Amino acid sequence: MFDFLGKLIIERPAGIKMSDSKNDNQFDVVVIGAGFAGMYMLHKLRATGLKVIVLEAGSDVGGTWYWNRYPGARCDVPSMEYSYSFSSELQQDWDWSEVMAGQPEILKYAEHVADRFTLRKDIKFDTRVKSAHYEEAHQNWLIHTEDGTSYESRYCIMATGCLSVTNTPEIPGAENFDGPIYHTGQWPHEGVDFSDVSVGIIGTGSSGIQAIPVVAEQAKHLTIFQRTPNYTMPAYNKPLTSEFREKARANYDQIRADQRASLAGIVGYGFGFGGADLVEPTDTLKNTTPEERAKLVEEQGFGAFRTFLDVGLDPDANEMACEMYRQHLATIIEDPKTAQGLMPRNYPIGCKRPVIDTDYYQTFNRDNVTLVDLRQGGIQQVTSTGVATDQGHYEVDALIYATGFDAMTGALERIDIKGKNGKSIKEEWHAGPRTYLGLQIHGFPNMFTITGPGSPSVLSNMMVSIEQHVDWIADCIGHLEDNQVRAIEPEEQAVNDWILHVNEVAKGSMFTAPSCNSWYLGANIPGKPRIFMPYVGGVGEYRNRCDEIVAEGYSGFTLSK
Ligand code: FAD
Ligand code: NAP
Repeated sequence: MFDFLGKLIIERPAGIKMSDSKNDNQFDVVVIGAGFAGMYMLHKLRATGLKVIVLEAGSDVGGTWYWNRYPGARCDVPSMEYSYSFSSELQQDWDWSEVMAGQPEILKYAEHVADRFTLRKDIKFDTRVKSAHYEEAHQNWLIHTEDGTSYESRYCIMATGCLSVTNTPEIPGAENFDGPIYHTGQWPHEGVDFSDVSVGIIGTGSSGIQAIPVVAEQAKHLTIFQRTPNYTMPAYNKPLTSEFREKARANYDQIRADQRASLAGIVGYGFGFGGADLVEPTDTLKNTTPEERAKLVEEQGFGAFRTFLDVGLDPDANEMACEMYRQHLATIIEDPKTAQGLMPRNYPIGCKRPVIDTDYYQTFNRDNVTLVDLRQGGIQQVTSTGVATDQGHYEVDALIYATGFDAMTGALERIDIKGKNGKSIKEEWHAGPRTYLGLQIHGFPNMFTITGPGSPSVLSNMMVSIEQHVDWIADCIGHLEDNQVRAIEPEEQAVNDWILHVNEVAKGSMFTAPSCNSWYLGANIPGKPRIFMPYVGGVGEYRNRCDEIVAEGYSGFTLSK
């Protein structure tokens, strides 16, 4: 059957789309994942007339915002900016209620987009993709799902998410725990009532830091098991006024243009953190005296070092900023031992993903909250009634794992992806992910990765990066279709050069400091190769490079008829 189909496809006359001669499970494009990336990819490709299907493991759209329903979940980018820009009508119609919207509102937005653009009719939900194999003879992808169905397509687009595979550390004894265990990234849809419950939470990354204040308000007692304290800044979140929304809407063209040209896809526009404009750091912290630094901390709290450029470049200046951070922290926490326990040490500010919180530190002044600083003695095991550590046993009725994700490569490597010569993505990436622009992998023709490793991705406002990748991929597919090009894949040399560039740009930054252990480096997953995965060059620079490559006739790519 496939011989016949392959022949049919290869010989089809110019200008006729494959979809003209397809059975139910044959598509031009299979997109995997229906988060913001997969949703926009579907919308964009529909306009080309290609036959597209989206396969999604969840039961509805939204991806991250569908799965992460833990108390306190919200975005930490202003919602006027963390939203689609592709439809002017959509952005004019939608009202965000707060500077940084909570998960329920973002999920409603995703659902609204799905309704508005009738996306669901081309999305197959409750469908997890198990394998995707490139059929060289027919230059097609053969995709198998866990329910035993197979799909054939010419293009395979991975919109599987950078933070969609949860990391659940294997803590001995967890199977013997009498109470429920939750993961923030797989939160029950019906919610969890923690009233009169003693809760333990493991992990103090962005998810833990968001959940802790909200759970503490409800629970009988909350015990926080913290392995590494984080540097976290207050969000100053607040409701948006209609005047403000109107002003932003009137300026949307400029806001979007500035986002696209920026470093991180965020511009602020007075509706950034607490109404304070984002500042371009220019000063030198090392030129300040201890008295000047103390004064800055007194006047500006955690914002005291935000105007200093050398904090991000010079380890000594960075350590000065860390000390300023700790000084301010000590003024917030009433119990000196708890304050010491919360103080991050021995790694730089800016190595891990910045955390933005609401009332995080204030929560540790509550009577029903206990901090267990695991630096003083780690977790030994989970028992039937709680958590045993080297510092003693802590009784809890329920446990929350806020332990993060197998980021960037996790969702891709969970699928058995095989390219040319049957080579698997795991083999290709055994020493770390290798891509050209984070968009394609050598040896895997016509497969695209949205916000893949090697692109700005998780270092940016992801909506900006998602839209840029989707637009680029759709234009690329349009180009291939228009020119009867059968397949595109990057040259090996282009991949090598790009990886070299990604590493060069990251060198010397706090992201790659020797004392830094972040999920950007894969350091949170035992055995994962330590390599800095996203591209630090900025979304503006990166976009220009992607556009130049197209203007150069897809330089670095092989296009085969
Ligand atoms: P996802 O939303 O992760 O969607 C991927 C989808 O693919 C999922 O629905 C998943 O079920 C599906 N999938 C994966 N594998 C398979 C498979 N094998 N078969 C079928 N389906 C599959 N970014 C920001 O820029 N700002 C923020 O404030 C922000 N806050 C965040 C808060 C949390 C709690 C988390 C976890 C992430 C946050 N992010 C934030 C990052 C966020 O992931 C992105 O902003 C964005 O939502 C990613 O969209 P996506 O479509 O690329 O991936
Ligand atoms: P994370 O940043 O990886 O944090 C995981 C936490 O769990 C860390 O504190 C880690 O400690 C701890 N941990 C892991 N295994 C442990 C173990 N065996 N014992 C004790 N502690 C353990 O994960 P996350 O908080 O889910 O955030 C992941 C990313 O999702 C964020 O960086 C961000 O990009 C995104 N996110 C964004 C928001 C937002 O504000 N919009 C909210 C949530 C998530 P160590 O540091 O010691 O490893």
